[in-house]
Amino acid sequence: SISPATLSAISNAARKGVLFKGGVHAENVSNVKAIALDKTGTLTNGKPVVTEVIIHPDFDREYIIAAAGAIENESTHPLAQAITAYSDKQLRSKPGIQVYDMKTISGNGVTAIVDNKKYEIGKPDFVGREAASKYLNGIAPELALQGQTIIFVKVDNKIVAVFALKDTIRNTTKKAIRDLKERGIQPIMLTGDNELTAKAVAEEAGIDQYIANCLPQEKLEHVKELRKKYHNIAMVGDGINDAPALATSNVGIAMGEGTDIALETSDIVLMKNDLSRITNTITLSRRMNRIIK
Ligand code: ADP
Ligand code: MG
Repeated sequence: SISPATLSAISNAARKGVLFKGGVHAENVSNVKAIALDKTGTLTNGKPVVTEVIIHPDFDREYIIAAAGAIENESTHPLAQAITAYSDKQLRSKPGIQVYDMKTISGNGVTAIVDNKKYEIGKPDFVGREAASKYLNGIAPELALQGQTIIFVKVDNKIVAVFALKDTIRNTTKKAIRDLKERGIQPIMLTGDNELTAKAVAEEAGIDQYIANCLPQEKLEHVKELRKKYHNIAMVGDGINDAPALATSNVGIAMGEGTDIALETSDIVLMKNDLSRITNTITLSRRMNRIIK
C-alpha cells in the first residue's frame, strides 16, 4: 500500500510534469548519489543540423551530398535525418540515386551500395582512423572541440566527405547540472559520440565526468559499474539505446519526447523534457521520506 505522504509527493510531482510509475520510485530517487545522463536528446535537444561539409576535391560535391542524403534517408537516427534534410535543402535537382542493401550498424553508422560502390557513413572509429587520418589531423578536431559531431563518408575505402553536425544543449541543462552538484549528486555523461565532442559538450553542460565512444550495449555495462561505485544511481535517457541502461539503474528516468521503449522501461517520465525537474523531484522525495520515517 502507498502512504499518504508518498501519494501527496507523487501527485505534487505530476502537477509539475514528473510522472512516477509507482511509490517505490519516489523513495529510491531520494537516495540517488549519482546520475548518468545520455548526451543526445537528453542533455541536448537531439535535433542536430549540418554546419559544414568538406568534400574531397577529386569527387563531385553534389553527387556525394545526394548519395549521403539518400542513404541516410533510410535511417531514423537524428544525425541521419539531419544529413538528409541538408541534402534536400542544398540540391535543387538531385541526381537519381538508387540505394541498395542499406544496413544500420548500431552506435556506429550505416553502410549501403550506390552505383556498385560500397558506402560507409559514420564515426571515425567506424570508417577507420587510418583512412580518416588526414581529416583527424586537420579540420575534424577543431569542429569536435566546438562540440560538433563528425561523420565521415567512405566510398570504396576512400574518405570522400566529412559532415560536421551541431546539436544545441537544452536551455534547462546547465541549471539542472548545477543543482544536482549542489545537492551532492554526481552527474556522469554517457555518449556514443567521440572523445573530443563529448568533452566539449560535457564542459558546456558543467559535467566533469563523461564516458565517450559508448556502444549501445556498453551503456548498460557502465551503469552496472556505476551502481557498484555509487550504490544508488539514476539514469536519464531518451533513446532505444538507453533502454537497457534505464532498466538497470536504480531509477530510470525518461525524457517525455523519448522513444516508446525508453518511456516503457523507465520508472519516472519527465513530461516536459525539463531536466531541472529532477532536482525538484529529489528534494520533494527526500522531504517525503522524512515524513514517513
Ligand atoms: P548517441 O549516444 O550520441 O546518441 P549513437 O550511439 O546512436 O549516439 O551513435 C554513436 C555515433 O555513431 C554517432 O555519434 C555517429 O557518429 C555514429 N552514427 C550512428 N548512427 C549513424 C548514422 N545513421 N549515420 C551516421 N553516423 C551514425
Ligand atoms: Mg539520446
